Amino acid sequence: MTTGWSPDSWRNRPIWQVPVYPEAEKLAEVDRELRRFPPLVFAGEARRLARLLAQVAEGKAFLLQGGDCAESFAEFHPNNIRDTFRVLLQMAVVLTFGAAVPVVKVGRLAGQFAKPRSADSETIDGVTLPSYRGDMINGQEFTAQARIPDPQRMITAYNQSAATLNLIRAFAQGGYADLNRVHAWNLGFVDDSPQGDRYRDLADRLDEALAFMAACGLTSETTPQIRETDFFTAHEALLLDYEEALTRVDSTTGDWYDTSAHFLWIGDRTRQPEGAHIEFLRGVGNPIGLKVGPTLDVEGLLRLIDVLNPANDPGRLTLIIRFGAQKVQEMLPKYIRAVRTEGKRVVWVSDPMHANTVTSANGYKTRHFDRILDEVRAFFQVHEAEGSYAGGVHFEMTGKDVTECTGGVRAVTDDETSGRVYAGPYSSRADAQEAAAAIAAPEEMPTGTPSRRATRSTR
Ligand code: PEP
Repeated sequence: MTTGWSPDSWRNRPIWQVPVYPEAEKLAEVDRELRRFPPLVFAGEARRLARLLAQVAEGKAFLLQGGDCAESFAEFHPNNIRDTFRVLLQMAVVLTFGAAVPVVKVGRLAGQFAKPRSADSETIDGVTLPSYRGDMINGQEFTAQARIPDPQRMITAYNQSAATLNLIRAFAQGGYADLNRVHAWNLGFVDDSPQGDRYRDLADRLDEALAFMAACGLTSETTPQIRETDFFTAHEALLLDYEEALTRVDSTTGDWYDTSAHFLWIGDRTRQPEGAHIEFLRGVGNPIGLKVGPTLDVEGLLRLIDVLNPANDPGRLTLIIRFGAQKVQEMLPKYIRAVRTEGKRVVWVSDPMHANTVTSANGYKTRHFDRILDEVRAFFQVHEAEGSYAGGVHFEMTGKDVTECTGGVRAVTDDETSGRVYAGPYSSRADAQEAAAAIAAPEEMPTGTPSRRATRSTR
């Protein structure tokens, strides 16, 4: 047991980015109800993910993390879940094929309902209201009523997460993810996009490899690895009332696990060393992530690594770097060197989304696809130059055809952007695919990318 820690020890620490619920009794009632609900994930699954992440830390696998900026109650639909799952599968196949390393798949879903905000309130036409903080906390509509934090929303978020996870498990284990269906995942998808030929070519080559394996007796029936896939869930552990209520003792080990997801991360705005979020996550047994933005200096990072991973377990802590395309080259080397000098074992991941957001001419939040790729490229280049392993990517993306990022496969212009005021802009499914292809395409990326390493190691 972690010294001085209990599931509620965060309550004695300063806290940022959380709502104040006006009705304490209603909150207590929801808390009691959540504590009676079954865990969403099993601690053994979280440990399995930690073992896979240890492989990433050691340079033997690649982490693909992606999905919703924020899940929404209104957009809850099986097709949306399927589309996100499918694009992650497609990206994973592209990466596995190009890089010849196992890809660990982690979705930002089944719990990604709460969002940190840069301001506590918002003013429109002279009216000031509390900020919208995600569907798990309050409503998006700009009315005083909608913006009141309502604990009942945690119950809705739990139920939606349970249903989402149920479908994802069925897809992952029930045949949808069978590699023999790689062409079928594509139906009505990349056929009308410029990278369609490239994906079809890859799917054809995969078919050939599967036909050869079948001739050797390795088929979907005989080999679960062809028929099934591991898929894990993740979200930002922001609303600690919810996380605490779902934190349970694992009967196998006696350790505490946050059973709301396999992997939880701490956001860039809630990583204060003395703060509640660091306190809470240091004590759970799940693999965890830490967002590292440009305002966290090297000493601060080392201090947090000690707090979050005192045993220096290789799969325990993932550093999700989000410096912005401009700053990676300049800043990242000293972080890598310091972590190596101190002998810390971590997974390094690039989040090229969160420090590259700008406001478009028509008022929406957007990101230019080139800046996203620039940040990923620079991330791989720096790791290569430092002799370090760039372990993965963390994307905010959708399985749908959206025009929320400028540039990209469809060359969306500033005026054409559509989308969201309160959530980050999504990469479309075509752009997400393109990003995976770029990471996996040796000619386009620096030698540090997994595909280049695979190419070199087979020479
Ligand atoms: C996020 O990943 O949703 C997020 C808000 O990121 P960050 O904490 O890096 O800003």
